[in-house]
Amino acid sequence: MSENSGPPNFVRDLVAADVAAGKHGGRVMTRFPPEPNGYLHIGHAKSICLNFGLASEFGGLCNLRFDDTNPAREEQEYVDAIRRDIRWLGFDWQEREYFASGYFDQLYRWALQLIGKGLAYVDSQSPDEIREGRGNFYKKGTESPYRNRSVDENLALFERMRAGEFPEGAHVLRAKIDMAHGNLNMRDPPMYRIKHAHHHRTGDTWCIYPMYDYAHGLSDAIEGVTHSICTLEFEDHRPLYEWFLEALALEHRPQQIEFAKLNFTYVVLSKRRLLQMVQERLVDGWDDPRMPTLSGLRRRGVTPEAIRNVAERVGVSKRDGSVDVTLFEHEIREHLNATAPRRMAVLRPLKLVIENYPEDAEEWFDAPDNPEQPEAGGRKVPFCRELYIEQDDFREVAPKKWYRFAPGQEVRLRYACLVTCREVVKDAEGRVVELRCTWDPNSRGGDAPDGRRVRGTSHWVSARHAVAATVRLYDRLFTEADPLGVEGRDWKEFLNPNSLEVVEDVRIEPSLATAPVGARFQFERVGYFCVDLDSTAARPLFNRTIGLKDSWAKLEAREGKPGS
Ligand code: ATP
Ligand code: MG
Repeated sequence: MSENSGPPNFVRDLVAADVAAGKHGGRVMTRFPPEPNGYLHIGHAKSICLNFGLASEFGGLCNLRFDDTNPAREEQEYVDAIRRDIRWLGFDWQEREYFASGYFDQLYRWALQLIGKGLAYVDSQSPDEIREGRGNFYKKGTESPYRNRSVDENLALFERMRAGEFPEGAHVLRAKIDMAHGNLNMRDPPMYRIKHAHHHRTGDTWCIYPMYDYAHGLSDAIEGVTHSICTLEFEDHRPLYEWFLEALALEHRPQQIEFAKLNFTYVVLSKRRLLQMVQERLVDGWDDPRMPTLSGLRRRGVTPEAIRNVAERVGVSKRDGSVDVTLFEHEIREHLNATAPRRMAVLRPLKLVIENYPEDAEEWFDAPDNPEQPEAGGRKVPFCRELYIEQDDFREVAPKKWYRFAPGQEVRLRYACLVTCREVVKDAEGRVVELRCTWDPNSRGGDAPDGRRVRGTSHWVSARHAVAATVRLYDRLFTEADPLGVEGRDWKEFLNPNSLEVVEDVRIEPSLATAPVGARFQFERVGYFCVDLDSTAARPLFNRTIGLKDSWAKLEAREGKPGS
């Protein structure tokens, strides 16, 4: 079946072994079960890739199931965002979209059955008494005085709970397992609690809601899931997962398999904290391009391929830990390098005037979309007497090995020609505002006719043809590799104050002005950029996805920790 050549993936090995052994008739059925209480993040992408990936690898299917058992926190907005993000990532659940709330009737009937079998009871202790009675790791639990109610009394009470006769907290339905069990999850865990809350799908039909542990495995069973893949925090819940299947004597027994959550350095992943950042306006919404959400990454210009590639490359582990974010950044660059057309844009313009070029003339040079893939085609870029180059590409006093603009130095304008800086114009404050240059009319295309060597190449745009744009430069959202792990400090203290820089007066080549929202480019020598959602023809707006090289690694090597 699966060649074991890629990164370690014990879940795949397990599934392969089951298929080979003919378990479940060789069938593979997985599900991705998000709770619609927030937007999906890069960690969820790992789970999506794993579940959909295994299903397709073994000729099976993967369902989308919204785990909507908690009415208080769940919203339609999240359901819509989750659907959009999974599709964008490249996966398709076809018509198999389910909701745990769609099983509420069945789950209720099963609860009645468990009561009937003497395996569940209504407990009328207060929440505090229940907590106290559970004991802890060192102390056995104590049985509730209501534990031995008769079946009839339990059935009657449970039905009255459902009918809305009681306030929240008055009663809960508990599984009757073992109050002395070594695993706390098995000490008569709650199955249903009363919640007088409106549900985003079932409205006011229910005022009792099943607990996750009760609902999840049974939902898996209803859907015929064979491998129920979840993260490590559920490992201790597996005996309970299996207990419900056993207690109801269900024929189909899905198997729960746990793996370690994916996390990255310099990133905080948890819906609760992401929600906090949104609510406290520390970022500009769930799809802020600095967010590790799929919608944020999409808006940032990250490709779904890069996310799928990194998810595959990190493998599947049984141990929690953080993956170095530079691995993700590497995948982002790799894929954009192969796919993003090259364009020219000048972020901080400095005017360059070619004195021996006629005022009214213009010409259009051929520029390839990707010099490494000539077959990918190209476009024409306009050229005239006045251009813009990058302020950073000029030094009045050139250091050693400076091949870009300096007085008297000849430089290549990418795809255009060779120019030499003859004079520097300054304003009243002594700032350089213009370079007066001459060009070699015989260097069209960028090569000297006599073969003389010109080492420096700069990007540029035509002043007359260029379009003004705004660019947002993003940096990592946190300055600390493990923002949650610094003792005595709040993670929000490590938010990078320089994670967003807005550059207003950018000049872009005209072909960029009409690029559609979401289009991705490499601005030559500057980085990878993507057209933002809010971009308009009148005011193009680009987000920097990522720089060309890993400038952080260099910074950290030189100065210790960045941002400090
Ligand atoms: P968070 O901890 O970020 O709030 P969650 O686990 O509460 O996430 P769910 O909506 O319950 O979010 O998760 C849906 C699925 O995605 C679950 O199967 C969960 O185990 C998995 N998942 C969540 N976070 C990660 C992660 N960081 N890496 C891998 N899988 C994850
Ligand atoms: Mg959860």
